Amino acid sequence: MNIIFLGAPGAGKGTQAAIVSKKLNIPTISTGNIIRDALRSGSDMGRKAKEYVDKGQLVPDDVVIGIVKDRICQPDCKDGFILDGFPRTITQAEALDKMNVKIDKVLDIEVEDELIYNRMTGRRVCGKCGATYNINTDCRPKKDGICDKCGDSLVQRRDDNPDTVRERLKVYYSQTEPLKEFYNKQGKLFEIDGQKPLKEATDEIIRAIEA
Ligand code: ADP
Ligand code: ZN
Repeated sequence: MNIIFLGAPGAGKGTQAAIVSKKLNIPTISTGNIIRDALRSGSDMGRKAKEYVDKGQLVPDDVVIGIVKDRICQPDCKDGFILDGFPRTITQAEALDKMNVKIDKVLDIEVEDELIYNRMTGRRVCGKCGATYNINTDCRPKKDGICDKCGDSLVQRRDDNPDTVRERLKVYYSQTEPLKEFYNKQGKLFEIDGQKPLKEATDEIIRAIEA
């Protein structure tokens, strides 16, 4: 099964994708994570992406489409995959069609603006293993500032500062939200209430997948 997680930044796509990935035993392809790895490694792609990510803007379509194209033809994707953070524009969605990728379900995680802002500025990530936490939700780490999984320290993402967050939300509404209509017309869109406690939202997602 090929699944897309849609929703504003900070809606909990990554957290939910990780849970579903484990349950269905299919990989998650997070363009955000792939781009952040490239930023750290200082590759060509990373250098190209940096100015966009730091401003809270989208990395150009051809770059991210290339990333996804390379990733989905890897052997671990043969039984399906989850796309987290892709597509983010109509052009990217059309690129999937052109690659002959059949999307089964699109899960749109809905969260109110105010909450999103709170979640994005509350997000903390482990510098070592990449696990994410949130000091403003029920996804807090057990110990302040320390990763539950590996014990390393937690940091705030550079693009989770208030100004960049505001820009990312603007970008989401203008460029990504139209994808809801795009997939709704195809009967693939499932709206999930992302304001519920994590476990309840996850249950809702599982029901949509099994439907
Ligand atoms: P969030 O976790 O807030 O949803 P991501 O980690 O998915 O954010 O993405 C972080 C940044 O990486 C985005 O602000 C954007 O600059 C870039 N990016 C990630 N995915 C895409 C994409 N599909 N198209 C363009 N840019 C992207
Ligand atoms: Zn960790």
